[in-house]
Amino acid sequence: MNGLDLLGPQQRGLFIGGTWRDAAGGKRLDVIDPADGSVLTDVADGSVADAVDALDAAVAAQASWATTPPRERGEILRTAFSLVTGRAEQFAHLMSLEMGKTVAEAEGEVAYGAEFFRWYSEEAVRIHGRWMQAPGGGSRLLTIKKPVGPCLFITPWNFPLAMGTRKIGPAIAAGCTMVVKPASQTPLTMLALAAVLEEAGLPAGVLNVVTTSHTGEFSQTLQADDRLRKVSFTGSTGVGRVLVRQSADQLQRLSMELGGNAPFLVFEDADVDAAVDGAMVAKMRNMGEACTAANRFLVHRSVAQEFADKLGKRMGGLTVGRGQDTGVDVGPLIDERAVETVSQLVTDAVHDGATVVCGGAVPDGPGYFYPPTVLLDVPVESEINVQEIFGPVAPITTFEGEADAIRLANDTEYGLASYVYTRDLARTIRLAEALEFGMVGVNTGLISNPAAPFGGVKSSGFGREGGFEGIEEYLETTYVALPGG
Ligand code: NAP
Repeated sequence: MNGLDLLGPQQRGLFIGGTWRDAAGGKRLDVIDPADGSVLTDVADGSVADAVDALDAAVAAQASWATTPPRERGEILRTAFSLVTGRAEQFAHLMSLEMGKTVAEAEGEVAYGAEFFRWYSEEAVRIHGRWMQAPGGGSRLLTIKKPVGPCLFITPWNFPLAMGTRKIGPAIAAGCTMVVKPASQTPLTMLALAAVLEEAGLPAGVLNVVTTSHTGEFSQTLQADDRLRKVSFTGSTGVGRVLVRQSADQLQRLSMELGGNAPFLVFEDADVDAAVDGAMVAKMRNMGEACTAANRFLVHRSVAQEFADKLGKRMGGLTVGRGQDTGVDVGPLIDERAVETVSQLVTDAVHDGATVVCGGAVPDGPGYFYPPTVLLDVPVESEINVQEIFGPVAPITTFEGEADAIRLANDTEYGLASYVYTRDLARTIRLAEALEFGMVGVNTGLISNPAAPFGGVKSSGFGREGGFEGIEEYLETTYVALPGG
């Protein structure tokens, strides 16, 4: 068993209108194993004509899906949750192969990702409007919730399953149909997920998956179509901006889950050992290739050396290797460009005056590996503190007081995740209110939870995924004015 067995030969094609088929031009797209650069398999390389076919299918299915009883929609999600969970090991292997993360990490993502199906199977039956008497008496106000309509979902390569289920789960629950375009580097997990939803009884056309390398044309064509009503995107801020611009003509509803530059604050009163435990999770989850990854470690001067020594020992002790091998803690990065970017950021930080506590050198090939690295005394203005690292590097910068810490933490265009380590409750409240981020983790390095509203502010985007809030992204409100009795 290596996970590829989740997909039959046909299922490496496009999934449109309930049928698996080849791309219109017959083109294929290679899927690369980041552990050695070899070709794992290939998938259909959908054309723009295929994209339009997929939207046609979604539009055709919309009316009947919107009127399918909520309980039926929920039951399909609940069945899909059970199927994914029952095949967790295969899904984890498949994801590890195409993306590089260890199988243990991938199992964690399967559990997390599947939970969006369970959560939204429960939310499908709790969609409701409200009824009230107008404040002045007389008329009555009624609101009705309706599905937004056909959606386009574009997902990144770093969490190939969970970034899909976070959108597909609430959309199915709300009664929306959809076209999904997974990242070209990790299409296999999404295809396996489509196969599961088909098996769970999802009607033809509700979910359509198009793998394609014609990414720009694909989104331009679909967003120019007035039948598409919503775009939900997870990926880089640069691409997010393109999609927001493209939405202007048809005024599509948008959810934008974009990049991050999370601060990880350690105060002088923190439990340093607990902070190191939390840092290992916040930094090393997904080899640092996470939008929530702690990017800037801001540590009070009095505990910075202790924190750096302890974190360096833990990070330096991790085993780097192929994600499917036993005993491996850290897999490869996604591609060579990622290694070059991370390596350049480290080189520049050292040039700016940082000290290497551990790691810092690219190993010989094959594969796209970068070692866990800790840097101390990184100047605030160093590029590694400005841009998303997306790799296993922890830069530590020191601060003197709380106001200084808050100023440094907020000094970024991004506003997704942030982390705080302190034992002072009053300080915790001050920080939660002062930090300009969509999420604040207090004495924890793990904030993602399907029941919580995940999302950012500023250049990290807008909209929320998960929790009660997540389904609202797929619902419109109709207000009905009624005369009083
Ligand atoms: P990316 O380059 O923006 O790609 C994401 C997706 O967008 C891929 O499917 C990509 O397709 C597609 N894409 C690229 N250009 C497009 C265009 N013009 N029109 C339509 N689609 C287009 O990002 P990435 O490198 O895969 O992912 C890393 C980024 O995602 C990081 O910035 C990370 O912080 C962010 N992220 C955010 C969250 C969150 O919830 N906020 C979660 C995870 C990741 P191709 O693969 O075909 O290029």
